[in-house]
Amino acid sequence: NEQILLKSRPEGTPAEDNFEIRETEVPELKEGQVLIQSLYISVDPYMRGRMSTAKSYIEPFKVDEVISGGVVGEVVESKSDKLKAGDKVTGMLGWQRYNAMDASQIRKVDEQLAPLSAYLGILGTTGLTAYFGLLDIGQPKEGETVVISGAAGAVGMAVGQIAKMKGTRVVGIAGSDKKTEYLEKELGFDATINYKTTENIYKSVKKACPNGVDVYFDNVGGPISDAVTSLLNDFARVPVCGAISSYNITSLSEDMGPRIQPKLIKTRALMKGFIVSDYAPRFKEAARDLGQWLSEGKLKYEETIVEGFENVPQAFIGLFKGENLGKQIVKINQE
Ligand code: NDP
Repeated sequence: NEQILLKSRPEGTPAEDNFEIRETEVPELKEGQVLIQSLYISVDPYMRGRMSTAKSYIEPFKVDEVISGGVVGEVVESKSDKLKAGDKVTGMLGWQRYNAMDASQIRKVDEQLAPLSAYLGILGTTGLTAYFGLLDIGQPKEGETVVISGAAGAVGMAVGQIAKMKGTRVVGIAGSDKKTEYLEKELGFDATINYKTTENIYKSVKKACPNGVDVYFDNVGGPISDAVTSLLNDFARVPVCGAISSYNITSLSEDMGPRIQPKLIKTRALMKGFIVSDYAPRFKEAARDLGQWLSEGKLKYEETIVEGFENVPQAFIGLFKGENLGKQIVKINQE
């Protein structure tokens, strides 16, 4: 059984030598457990936070221990009456080829409903994050302007499409022309900005939002957000979902933007951080809507799939270089 451990805590941007692949025995099953062979592993920006010891909403990973995250796999052996060999399941599992888990800690997924990898993205945390962040905090209304940073990523792309369904003008900010073209041509975004090539992000956002910004769905923080929040309208809403631009900073002084308070007071705007798990009691309702929009073709999703267990660290590091369009997933080839 191969597994990936956190070998050392990254300083700045994570590098391959922060990870180690180790060979161990396939675990023995206890009563109530199932053995799961990994098929797809999710790599996610939030995992960077767990690699540091900074206080957060979730425990840090331990050095020299297996990293864990979202995985879809197949039950290959069962000592539980809840699941049988051949069932496809998802849960928070170790980055390893085989995991022994209590059946109660994982959830069976339906392969007929959607491809298995979708349970790590649009039918998993990604979709739920977009749904609650936009609809509960953003509360977009017809005719309003919604700006999304990290727009061509997994969450951003879902937010944009849901915002379009609500009849808003949708403006996406992303890091390459390939991404901005995809958003406009494939997903019907009204305007896009490549933040890496634009001369002045503030002026570009202003031009793309002639009526100002009513909802800013923030995935990235930093200078992009400083520009967008300067353009907030009265009573604007800002779901603060992620701040990937600061996940790798090494000194706090790098994390200081212009002061937001006067703007919030003048506009009476609402800026609210959230963690998708806050909404756990309402996941069913959201999953029903997301599943329905998918089946009706109203919601599309994109994945960037890297193959090979040994490439999990590289795929994770790639998130910080913008290598992914949509959800970054690693497909585990069977030996
Ligand atoms: P993405 O698919 O969006 O992948 C990350 C993307 O971030 C990259 O593709 C890259 O795109 C962009 N990026 C990387 N570095 C920077 C930078 N310095 N400045 C601006 N953009 C950058 O990941 P997810 O959709 O899974 O997550 C999006 C955000 O939402 C993350 O910040 C994540 O932490 C957060 N999140 C929050 C949750 C919550 O419960 N609050 C739950 C899930 C995710 P580009 O080429 O455009 O630069």
